[in-house]
Amino acid sequence: MRSKLVIGNWKMNGSTAMANALVNAAGKHLPPTDRVEVAVLPPFPYLAKVRDLAAGSALNWGAQDVSAHDEGAHTGEVAAAMLAEFGCRFVLVGHSERRHECGEDDRLIAAKFAAARRAGLTPVLCVGETRDEREAGNTFAVVERQLETVADHNGIAAFAAAVVAYEPVWAIGTGLTATPEQAAEVHGRIRSFCAALDDTIAAGLRILYGGSVKPDNAVQLFAEPEIDGGLIGGASLNAEHFTAIVQAAASGPRR
Ligand code: PEP
Repeated sequence: MRSKLVIGNWKMNGSTAMANALVNAAGKHLPPTDRVEVAVLPPFPYLAKVRDLAAGSALNWGAQDVSAHDEGAHTGEVAAAMLAEFGCRFVLVGHSERRHECGEDDRLIAAKFAAARRAGLTPVLCVGETRDEREAGNTFAVVERQLETVADHNGIAAFAAAVVAYEPVWAIGTGLTATPEQAAEVHGRIRSFCAALDDTIAAGLRILYGGSVKPDNAVQLFAEPEIDGGLIGGASLNAEHFTAIVQAAASGPRR
């Protein structure tokens, strides 16, 4: 059975004071891990603080990005092995803000996914269509292309230790949310795409929804059995909201 997973992506927000407040609050009343696992992804400078605060609790931590290279002359990059040594469990790859602001393409994202796996990290592969792509009826084609490049490069077996996050670009940070039905439809397509390559891996794959998840829509979203949890941006910066979203995930059904 897949337990739900809620990941807070702080994006480029935070301070030591905020890390203290958020981790203390988030870590206080964590539901049992067989119902929901929880992780936070602070900017790199706050990883040490988060690790110190979360150590010994069920709260996981991770990073928002990783280099495709293992080591060497790549100024400004952070290697997957460094994150692993730091106790990170998860790392985002292919977040739409990196695809669009930093020009990351499917091949680079596939290489970052591979680097994360080599170091034993769990990559959280973000996929999703823009508003224009949805309106043109290309949602499934876009999401499948994003998945296919990573699956071709890494093999579907690599997804046994990965998470996929469906994040429609038009819903990220906009206050617009996919309806539970819209999200479940795409999640179903993602699972079928993987099932065509390996049934068992598809059945165990956790597929998160991300895009303006808030306490007031989390219950409905997480009630969909196809939605295995959430990747939470803005609402993860508010301890009360994040905790409410974690509780909503804990009370949702599991597959
Ligand atoms: C995100 O950053 O991945 C995200 C989903 O942001 P938000 O929840 O703010 O839409």
